[in-house]
Amino acid sequence: MGKNLVIVGGGAGGGSTAAEAKRNDPSLRITMVEQGKFVAVAA
Ligand SMILES: Cc1cc2nc3c(=O)[nH]c(=O)nc-3n(C[C@H](O)[C@H](O)[C@H](O)COP(=O)(O)OP(=O)(O)OC[C@H]3O[C@@H](n4cnc5c(N)ncnc54)[C@H](O)[C@@H]3O)c2cc1C
Repeated sequence: MGKNLVIVGGGAGGGSTAAEAKRNDPSLRITMVEQGKFVAVAA
């Protein structure tokens, strides 16, 4: 079974972390937890 990564926060930092982690290990299962209604608002 592959590794799981849980990212708390769906802002720019959370999204970048998810993208980089997946590039390094495509088999990762990533769950992002966001308390608000929307993810990243940064351009
Ligand atoms: C008024 C304003 C205008 C801006 N304009 C621009 C712009 O035009 N272009 C640009 O590139 N940048 C802009 N920025 C900067 C940009 O918003 C930040 O640099 C960027 O959002 C930082 O990303 P972050 O992931 O570090 O933090 P955040 O964006 O703050 O993301 C953190 C996320 O974690 C979530 N969170 C926190 N605690 C929990 C918890 N316990 N459980 C679940 N979720 C949680 C929050 O809800 C949030 O969504 C602006 C900032 C401000 C304040």
